[in-house]
Amino acid sequence: MSTQDTRRAGGKPPRRGRPAADPKKSSVRLVDDTKHPENEVREGAGERAPWTLDDAAELYNINGWGEPYFRINAAGHVEVRPDPRLDRAIDLYELISDLKARGLDLPLLIRFSDILHDRIRRLNESFARAIAEYNYAGEYRGVFPIKVNQQRHLVEEIIEYGRPWKYGLEAGSKPELLVALAQNQDPGGIIICNGYKDRQYIETAILAQQFEKTVIIVLERIEELDIALEASARLGLEPVLGVRAKLTAKGVGRWAESAGDRAKFGLTAAEIVEVIERLSDKKMLHCLQLLHFHIGSQISSILPFKQALREAGHIYVEMARMGCNMRYIDVGGGLAIDYDGSKTDFHASKNYDEQEYAYDVVSQIQEACSRAGLDVPTIVSESGRAVVAHQSILVFEVLGTSEFPIEDPERPAPDAHPVIKHLYEAWENVSERRVQESWHDALQAKEEAQTIFRLGYLSLKDRAVAERMFWSCCGRILRMIRTLDFVPEEVQDLEHLVASIYYCNFSVFQSAPDTWAIDQLFPIMPIHRLEERPTVRATIADLTCDSDGQIDQFIDVRDVKRSLELHPIHAGKPYYLGLFLNGAYQEILGDLHNLFGDTNAVHVELSKDGYNVAHVVKGDSVGEVLHYVQYVPDDMVEKVRRQAERALRRGRIRVDQLRLLMKHYEDSLDAYTYLSDLSEDTPT
Ligand SMILES: *Cc1c(COP(=O)(O)O)cnc(C)c1O
Repeated sequence: MSTQDTRRAGGKPPRRGRPAADPKKSSVRLVDDTKHPENEVREGAGERAPWTLDDAAELYNINGWGEPYFRINAAGHVEVRPDPRLDRAIDLYELISDLKARGLDLPLLIRFSDILHDRIRRLNESFARAIAEYNYAGEYRGVFPIKVNQQRHLVEEIIEYGRPWKYGLEAGSKPELLVALAQNQDPGGIIICNGYKDRQYIETAILAQQFEKTVIIVLERIEELDIALEASARLGLEPVLGVRAKLTAKGVGRWAESAGDRAKFGLTAAEIVEVIERLSDKKMLHCLQLLHFHIGSQISSILPFKQALREAGHIYVEMARMGCNMRYIDVGGGLAIDYDGSKTDFHASKNYDEQEYAYDVVSQIQEACSRAGLDVPTIVSESGRAVVAHQSILVFEVLGTSEFPIEDPERPAPDAHPVIKHLYEAWENVSERRVQESWHDALQAKEEAQTIFRLGYLSLKDRAVAERMFWSCCGRILRMIRTLDFVPEEVQDLEHLVASIYYCNFSVFQSAPDTWAIDQLFPIMPIHRLEERPTVRATIADLTCDSDGQIDQFIDVRDVKRSLELHPIHAGKPYYLGLFLNGAYQEILGDLHNLFGDTNAVHVELSKDGYNVAHVVKGDSVGEVLHYVQYVPDDMVEKVRRQAERALRRGRIRVDQLRLLMKHYEDSLDAYTYLSDLSEDTPT
């Protein structure tokens, strides 16, 4: 995993749960439930204002994280404005219907090329504005770190859209360097070579320097200097070198360890001095031209950048004073995405924008150089997440739900088991003034019932009645707390306890692995029916038979939600959910757990009169996925056929049954790995 830093060190971190000292936290979000209108009146919830599209926008905070690309249209669908400069929108629901009509099954990853274009433009224009405003006498040259999304079509688009700004590529490994060399064919392009390097990597980079490109070898370990010097002597060519500095300034959050003394990458001050001295001895100090640092990804606060820039500015100046031919400063990645739209320094958010970032980078480098009387360098940055996260959306379908039956209980018969009468009383006594006590009563009665059952004094039927009564108590307490301003901490989890489960046609491990691996939050919402009040609270379960294959943390402006407001599903009508901002890291980190393969992907671009499906990248078939794990589908067919023939000979199946089995077996090998033959799409 190239320069992925510490994102996966040590495997799966513990589930976060509701953070106790969450900066955004106040109380639970209150959402009404219309499933029990008759109770509601009785509980005094009163008249409710009709549901509006604005309510939907606020609930899912789409204007917070979606600006300027995603919003809700008058039809109650999510619409995409791939190029915010134009007054043009694509209705996501209609697009899905259209793509399904072309035979593209869900789950479907949709890439909006114009969003990618806009992200590249925004980043470059932010730096251009900062350079103009500060009268910075140098240039900005961004590079895209390939590891963030290596898909060929996407990299090709990045090269094409980035051409006006001579946007380059960053490689974090030898395979990525091979991609960069093939894709970035423009003379004058910049390729930054990071990651651990062997002789082949370094020699390839030095030779490619002769292609009228600037291929800069960034030394991440002192040993790489030896390899570079030997290669240079052998080839008779001089390299362009940089050093990655281990800064003491740390990032924040999950990637805080990307910097600091214990960082996996980079040279300490002592090692940088050693590099300078050894190059100087060889009369090659002019080769050392770049200083690089990278303090981690998704840096949610601007402050660590400011600190890192101050420290790096000082190192840069010192390197120049020691005689290095300094021409570039590479400020790495880390530019964050506002996944929850809260505009805070919460890990799923950020408290600055790309313009502020560009101002800080440009001004601090300028200041450091002018204080030292040096010419300013070309500024390189390696933003990955900020460039590609927005451009893709995963759309998947809900297959079914499981809900807790919450209904008003029947009064127990006079001879009912005492524990059932107990639970009924607990239900009757639920009151707004004493929700906490009501909750304790219900819990206690439920535990009593469980104990009595274990001891053999309660029938299975009575236990079922007791369970249902407990859910009734939960439901009643829940309806009350939803109207309260203050909710006691221990009762808050009730919402999660009774949440429905929505089973969906996708794999978390394939399409959103970071929700599992590092508890990352992505905005998820229905892409239609937004004119309708969502009355169900649910968590999301995927197709894998792994209990980690679920999503039970959702974005919220004030907190992390443990369930998501969704609509009841209607038989025969599809219900589509979108997982947004997932264009960075997810595709390549996705794995084949339970043999669910790559999803279908399409590239959609705006055209004169609507949109154009520019590329269709078919997802894996079952046969392809089996091949990855060294099965040979033809052999498998043979093995199954032999068993079927034997069963036929023994009279255990008929010949038409044999034919059906073999047809299913062979057709499945060619089929998409996800479920198909779902409800017919009938646009609402
Ligand atoms: C991962 C990485 C990046 C990209 O970081 P983002 O936070 O996605 O912008 C840039 N540079 C290096 C060295 C990296 O390892």
